[in-house]
Amino acid sequence: MICLDYGIRISRAALQEELAALNPSWLTSLGLKSSRRWRAAPDGDAGLEETALKETALKEIDYAGFRIKDCARCGGILKPDVVLFGENVPRQRVEHARRCLAQCDALLVIGSSLIVFSGYRLARAAGAAGTALFIINQRKTRADELALAKVEIPAAIALDYLV
Ligand SMILES: [Zn+2]
Repeated sequence: MICLDYGIRISRAALQEELAALNPSWLTSLGLKSSRRWRAAPDGDAGLEETALKETALKEIDYAGFRIKDCARCGGILKPDVVLFGENVPRQRVEHARRCLAQCDALLVIGSSLIVFSGYRLARAAGAAGTALFIINQRKTRADELALAKVEIPAAIALDYLV
């Protein structure tokens, strides 16, 4: 998680513990008293264990009473430290990705349609530099014509095979 005011980062797990302390009855109603019943998703969401969801009648939860946690240092708003739709990829991250791309032999795109230009831009740069582009995706991507090869199977199966 990142503070929007000063860029201070805290772990999603640490935030989960603070949210649990602030909202004990709310988390109990979701069956989340145990930390094993949720996992942090890549986008910062908390994925709930399927059995926890089945035990919970979501419509009965009083969301209005949920207390959020602001940045402990400045009171600023916390958000997942990922680039959300409508945001720009931070310049340093783009430059780092371009430097990495310049040094690699191949670019592997997994599970992205490359509809968002920030990812498509890297695929195009790979194509322009003669860097081999490989895609794992079950659907059409914006860079299919640039790819040396494309594997149209679920990413989890493809990655298991590659590992
Ligand atoms: Zn802050």
